[in-house]
Amino acid sequence: MKPKLFIPGPTHVEKDVLDAMAQYPIGHRTSDYRDLQSKVVSGIKECLYTNQSVLVSTSSATGLMEAGVRNLSKKKVANFVCGAFSKKQAEITKICGLDQDVFEVEWGQAITADLVDRALSEGDYDLATVVFNETSTGVMNPLEQIGEVLKKYPDVLLMVDAVSGMMGAPIKVDEWGIDMALASVQKAWALPPGFAITSLSDKALERSRSIPDAQKGFYFDLVRMHKAGEKSETMITPSIPHLYGLSKQLDRIKAEGLDNRFARHREMAKRVRDWGKDRFGLFAQPGYESDTLTCFSNKSGIDLIALANEMKSRNYLISGGYGDLKGKTFRLAHMGDLKMEDMNDVLMVLDEVIEAL
Ligand SMILES: *Cc1c(COP(=O)(O)O)cnc(C)c1O
Repeated sequence: MKPKLFIPGPTHVEKDVLDAMAQYPIGHRTSDYRDLQSKVVSGIKECLYTNQSVLVSTSSATGLMEAGVRNLSKKKVANFVCGAFSKKQAEITKICGLDQDVFEVEWGQAITADLVDRALSEGDYDLATVVFNETSTGVMNPLEQIGEVLKKYPDVLLMVDAVSGMMGAPIKVDEWGIDMALASVQKAWALPPGFAITSLSDKALERSRSIPDAQKGFYFDLVRMHKAGEKSETMITPSIPHLYGLSKQLDRIKAEGLDNRFARHREMAKRVRDWGKDRFGLFAQPGYESDTLTCFSNKSGIDLIALANEMKSRNYLISGGYGDLKGKTFRLAHMGDLKMEDMNDVLMVLDEVIEAL
């Protein structure tokens, strides 16, 4: 028995999803395969409230974070940073040689629509990158309001790293004006790691068409990916097990209902915050606490390494701080296929362990 996952990725995976992934492979240029991809892509579109494109990628999300900046900017990128993952997006932008300005708030604070508005009004940008749910700090940024601000800047595309938020909270891609919302599947989608998906607006596709191949490269050229997707295929041999898994997971999501799924996440988040906010303190700015994971600060100064080790010996994996926050915070995920009874269970064991530390 492996430790149950309460870390913010990879997350707990249900047995029937795992079993679905263990099916015998099919050829990826067959009609059976095209039926599979077509079902998965239309299911994802419903989950993201979009009538535009959805692409599947045999990579982790970071591949798509790189694809986004390479495909969508020829002038200047505005990278909004509020923690380790959004910082990585800024670093990727830099490494790809793109012109950029970085707007960083103190970690734990949110990227507000106001900040985005002020930043965009002062420079000649054509792409803004924002993280939806900053996994290192437990902040969920106000995506809907940010999308609203972007409507004032029609030349600026909005690219969202939604890795740890997608399927744990609503993302209304078309209504909110998001040009690219990307995620890997090992967070709130609750599949094993190794696969990623993204929405892609028509505007973003148009932009990518105008970018030279040398900037985009081959594997992550969104135009090539989209072209293969039109035939319900991929350019390359995809991870077919992940498509089987996604197909199963989409059936499960449909059975639960999207609204119920998001409500379940909100309720688990509240339960976890209520458990620890007085004892440890919440790291996230009030009003922007994430629905999918909670980052506690450590105001009572407990030994977080001992805590994680003790939990692991009881078969629960929890997470210490990430990046610069290692040892200063600990995080509990409440996303994907975890249920309230799982949270009650892990919180009870945490109480026992902390009592004994
Ligand atoms: C996990 C995570 C990533 C990295 O995803 P990979 O699938 O490991 O590439 C990026 N951004 C956020 C917000 C994450 O939580």
